Amino acid sequence: MRVLISVDMEGITGVTAHEDVRPGTASYERFRRQMTAEANAAVAGSFEAGATAAVVNDSHDGMRNILFEDLDDRASLVSGTMKPLDMVEGVQESDVAVFIGYHAMAGSAPAVLAHTMSGLVHGWWMDGVAVGESQINAALCRHFGVPVALVSGDACLADEVSTTLPGTRSVVVKYATDETTARSIPRADAIRLLRDGVRDAVLGAGSLSAVRTGEAVRFRIEFTSTAAAAAACLCPGVERAGARIVDMIGSDIIEAYRLSTVSMNLAIAASR
Ligand SMILES: [Zn+2]
Repeated sequence: MRVLISVDMEGITGVTAHEDVRPGTASYERFRRQMTAEANAAVAGSFEAGATAAVVNDSHDGMRNILFEDLDDRASLVSGTMKPLDMVEGVQESDVAVFIGYHAMAGSAPAVLAHTMSGLVHGWWMDGVAVGESQINAALCRHFGVPVALVSGDACLADEVSTTLPGTRSVVVKYATDETTARSIPRADAIRLLRDGVRDAVLGAGSLSAVRTGEAVRFRIEFTSTAAAAAACLCPGVERAGARIVDMIGSDIIEAYRLSTVSMNLAIAASR
């Protein structure tokens, strides 16, 4: 059993402010240690469940946050941004995936630092259904027949997961009252819940289905500005569907995701 552990930062215990997840700040240096500790809890839980390998994919911002020297010696680490599957790179060689430190989709409330891929995104739909990073990444995993056994983050994310990813377990490490305000559970409790939760989820992963569909996927992205939508449409295959809205269809989820990545990068470049 090979486990992919995708680790984002906004849903890490104690994180509440933008500066907590922004490289170059003092509070970021504090919370990347907690991020590493939560990755280690997932590694430990994986091996307790009998895993033969654990790959930790650093999935936040520039994807160079986890402290390798403090990472469990049994885990390998994927860092850097140039990876085709982005937050779930490594799923190609995995049997089950867990998402640690994730956050609710753009527009969710009350939720800590909720967004979808970029602050430029107002909303994202996959085949007409509103999605966030958990659902998009789960669809990428499904393409490889890999189920997502567990997602950790705030209580709003757990609600989201319960309605959008049937069978996927959640670990709640904080309760938001606002975008930048939350009550985090004690650190020791978070580590224990993550370790036990990942262990139980990996042990129970056999009952999860992850059916490969291979079918065409339509993404609709609503940006926060018309300029971002205009720039996104410079990517061939991306069509304007409204002042701030673009549509794209991939022959499968992989192609749809690549189209979204290119159009998102164009939108970000145009917004600088
Ligand atoms: Zn992030």
